[in-house]
Amino acid sequence: MDALKYLAGYPEPLLAQVRALIDADRLGPMLAERYAERHAVRNDGQLYDYVQAMKDRYLRKSVPLGKVVYDGKLQVVQHALGTHTAISRVHGGKLKASREIRIASVFRDAPAEFLKMIVVHELAHLKETEHNKAFYQLCTHMAPDYHQLELDLRLYLTQLDLETR
Ligand SMILES: [Zn+2]
Repeated sequence: MDALKYLAGYPEPLLAQVRALIDADRLGPMLAERYAERHAVRNDGQLYDYVQAMKDRYLRKSVPLGKVVYDGKLQVVQHALGTHTAISRVHGGKLKASREIRIASVFRDAPAEFLKMIVVHELAHLKETEHNKAFYQLCTHMAPDYHQLELDLRLYLTQLDLETR
């Protein structure tokens, strides 16, 4: 059993802390306290508007958004953080890139900050394919507390797994 699969790559002292929280039944309450705010992005249309608004604010010059949807089949485990697909279509002889963003449907019911985090992540991929330094700079430009949010999202997913086991 790998209870901490979402936290692969994080340092052992942190994992030990997480295990202690889980053993004391403190992880769930801690997250619920810290992330009490819900969001109202219930369907694909609202999700598109939400992503577009954030893109307009931070990444106006990047490629246009394609489809934006919640995807119930998307395995959060695999990518941990949504997927990003580049689709090239031919427009009047010119090749124009359009981007499709799929957000795992677990985020529909997740706290507001986690939806924001995953959208920031996917928007950053419009400019940077890899998870490199430039990529994370874009993320922290859009959400200064990005790294904390990503860690806490991983904790949230861990907790969800524990609850449904
Ligand atoms: Zn990514």
